[in-house]
Amino acid sequence: MKIVVASSEAIPFAKTGGLADVASALSKALAEAGHEVSLFLPYYPQSTAKRGFTSQDFEACPEKVTISVGSKDVEAGLLKAKFPDSKVTVYLVDQPRYFDRPELYHEQGRDYQDNCERYIFFSRAVLAFTEKLNLQPDVIHANDWQTGLIPALLKIEYQQRPGFEKTASVFTIHNMAFQGQYWHWDMLLTGIDWKYFNRHQMEFFGQLNLLKTGIVFSDMITTVSPTYAKEIRTEQFGYGLHGVLDSHSDHLVGILNGVDTSEWNPEIDPHLAANYNENSVLEGKPLCKAALQERMGLPQRPDVPLFGTISRMTDQKGFSLILDAAENLLASDVQMIFLGTGDPYHEASFTDLSKRFPDQVATYVGFDETLAHQIEAGLDLFMMPSQFEPCGLNQMYSLSYGTVPLVHEVGGLADSVVDASEKNLENGTANGLSFWHFDATVLYRQMRRAMEMYADKQIWNQLIQTGMTKDWSWTHSAQNYLSVYQRACILRNQNNESVSAS
Ligand code: ADP
Repeated sequence: MKIVVASSEAIPFAKTGGLADVASALSKALAEAGHEVSLFLPYYPQSTAKRGFTSQDFEACPEKVTISVGSKDVEAGLLKAKFPDSKVTVYLVDQPRYFDRPELYHEQGRDYQDNCERYIFFSRAVLAFTEKLNLQPDVIHANDWQTGLIPALLKIEYQQRPGFEKTASVFTIHNMAFQGQYWHWDMLLTGIDWKYFNRHQMEFFGQLNLLKTGIVFSDMITTVSPTYAKEIRTEQFGYGLHGVLDSHSDHLVGILNGVDTSEWNPEIDPHLAANYNENSVLEGKPLCKAALQERMGLPQRPDVPLFGTISRMTDQKGFSLILDAAENLLASDVQMIFLGTGDPYHEASFTDLSKRFPDQVATYVGFDETLAHQIEAGLDLFMMPSQFEPCGLNQMYSLSYGTVPLVHEVGGLADSVVDASEKNLENGTANGLSFWHFDATVLYRQMRRAMEMYADKQIWNQLIQTGMTKDWSWTHSAQNYLSVYQRACILRNQNNESVSAS
């Protein structure tokens, strides 16, 4: 198959969250399965420079396209790059006016005011370059609101053009909370006729909604876990779009993300004090724990349970609950490590916690990928009490690093973590701890329960082994995406037939 993947971020070039991991890892897994994959993302020069890339890492393509954004004509350039050890071609759309900025989407908690315009430009550029490079894809796979316009443009403008006669679209929702919703006049920037600005298509309560646009116009919709695919059809999790999703439920599939094992594998991870696998975890992990305690300025004590998390510091990720529960638990002999950035209130609270309990708590406010790897390996327990969690990656990294996850039973957390109940321990499926009521007291009780289990080495080692021996790689998920692509192509063809018959 020929596949074009469009994403606003992808590791190692630019990352703010899980989307970056998924866009790259899925592209690589599809290429490994023998498919021809082109991955498009914007060229963010400041982000790539921060990540150690120089201009020599990118090849300038001669192709240029001019994109109409409202009344402006804006030129797009193109750079090309390769992932190491992969046949995926990475195309970076170059327009400094939109993308040469310190951050990807916002600075100091404020969104860039022209985000709608920036990603309309990017979405149009992806299709224009797909045409110019004559890629003739079977499928274009768009991700999140930033590329939500692509399925619409494909149906409305590109469907009959040479090279697109068979192209189907797949749209993946990584988080319903971010919808790309803008005032109605931004419809003019899309270049799409006002007739599509109606409540069944691009409009949502008088505003332009780019996530809804992607949902409505794509041939198939996916989201990043089977449980989240069910949850988003309910009022509680659907952020107002549950009705739209429910009416498209025939085309909605949940596929759990995998782990990119070239990035996240304790056996070869270059950031760790010691490498290990499921057979050597009991020797390797204590060395990683000691190195982490030293780096974070905590007493190097092998036997104290070490809890922690790596995350955007937001209410979605359960930070209010963690703060309350941690305050109570710190009366016991436990250490905690927090790495994250986000809500200034949470950043300040967790920094303050580490000042008040310097021998027990260490907080690093910032984005540090090396430290993230060291925390995954060094912790005993990873806390992920997210209010909602479309998929979540860190619980799967934790499972493959022998770090027991403690999670709120929602979305992808429910699909990957099996609670250490008596029954699950007996049948050998338990790999972590999970709870249902989103409440600080419940989390506190689960943390105490984790401490008791940690003290029973037999149970704890069983949880570690069960997590580490399962295959969390992308192989299985990539196969599921291929089935979705095939279904999208069939639906697209049926659509062609009905158009030519009418
Ligand atoms: P989300 O995409 O909702 O933020 P995920 O769990 O799906 O959450 O993915 C988050 C990704 O970002 C993980 O790879 C995680 O390790 C990483 N991450 C989040 N915050 C930081 C940070 N402060 N430093 C380094 N990595 C981080």
